[in-house]
Amino acid sequence: MANLSKRDQQYLWHPLNQHKLHPEMLGIVRAKGSILYDEHGNEYIDGIASWYTCMYGHCNDLIVEPVFRQMKQLDQIVFSGFTHEPAVKLSERLIQILPGNQQKLFFSDNGSTAAEVGIKMALQFHFNQGRKRQILLAFEDSFHGDTFGAMSVSGLSVYNGPFADYFLDVERIPLPTKANIKNVIAYLKDRLSQNNIAGFIYEPLVQGAAGMKMYDANGLGQILALLQEHDVLTIADEVMTGFGKTGRNFASDHLEIKPDIMCLSKALTAGLLPMGITSCTQRVYDAFYSEELSKGLFHGHTYTANPLACTAALAGIELLESEEIQENIQRIIKSHQNFDLEIKDHPKVANTRQCGIIYALDLNIKMERYGNLRDKLFKHFMDNGVFLRPLGNTIYILAPFVITNEQLRVIYTAIKSALDWV
Ligand SMILES: *Cc1c(COP(=O)(O)O)cnc(C)c1O
Repeated sequence: MANLSKRDQQYLWHPLNQHKLHPEMLGIVRAKGSILYDEHGNEYIDGIASWYTCMYGHCNDLIVEPVFRQMKQLDQIVFSGFTHEPAVKLSERLIQILPGNQQKLFFSDNGSTAAEVGIKMALQFHFNQGRKRQILLAFEDSFHGDTFGAMSVSGLSVYNGPFADYFLDVERIPLPTKANIKNVIAYLKDRLSQNNIAGFIYEPLVQGAAGMKMYDANGLGQILALLQEHDVLTIADEVMTGFGKTGRNFASDHLEIKPDIMCLSKALTAGLLPMGITSCTQRVYDAFYSEELSKGLFHGHTYTANPLACTAALAGIELLESEEIQENIQRIIKSHQNFDLEIKDHPKVANTRQCGIIYALDLNIKMERYGNLRDKLFKHFMDNGVFLRPLGNTIYILAPFVITNEQLRVIYTAIKSALDWV
């Protein structure tokens, strides 16, 4: 029989891909811990934790076993009119680790829908109170997902041209820097006097898809404070930053001002099953709580709060809170700091940055986001047994918390040897 890569090409259509230019997909047959195994017997270190999901390692028994037990107990039940122990337990556990103002959880299926629900909460929050606020605010180059609402608020809509006419009404502000924050605040003060902005969605501290762009917490804090004063709901999209990656449980933990709404997915379920959660404050929830049916949030997905996904999330939180994982996070942070000293002055390196276990560097070379040189870099890493996914001229590491020092060294060596020829 032909290999997976050949059979794949007959019927499958892959995400974020132009199949005429990139017809070949690599067949992966197995994964364990930080290692991926392909169908030719090659191994790769998963340097990006399969898009920041399997932070406790692939096929971790401490995640898989409880889910397997749950599978035999209760697989799926409609979450409208019914409830179940995994969802209840998860809510009790997740609320403990979320910022203290988060009081209610709304389930959906992925990061885009978590953002979508956050946007709907913000719009309906004002609608329910008879206020006409229909504009959303977002950062330039942000990424919040690929469904229509999430796509609309994403500034990074490189290839979204065909849909641009159907986007929600969104205005943008630049990422805050020490140099521009005064101007941004002055602009917002003026803009907010029109009282028509419903909500502000942002990726706290790190913009993932933009190339792990990191920005000023202090400036963000000032923006959030001003927006909350004007009753603009603040929506922290922590789909990428959530669950320990920034060195704290959530990026919002680094800030004094807490968001009104939070979007969670990716590492939420430890990479085992898809699920999204949108959390909010009591105040947001109360704007929907009414004798009028129509004031409820009429949004629902078939697999809402799937018991298996909830069980995986619960097991993930237990791991995140464990001493072992917390020590690993500190170890990886230190390891990246040492690596940074080795390469930050390299002539091919324009700049480096780190937030928790997220490490990124920009090459001193102009490159297209999905161009030829970028593809050559990707291949270089794979040939060296490392799965990294450069974004334009940005190379970043976001490895599982269980990665060993030896595996980290392999990643660092692959990056250094790329600098020799790039
Ligand atoms: C990945 C991502 C999303 C979208 O999540 P999906 O599960 O891919 O739909 C939204 N926001 C951020 C910040 C992300 O990193």
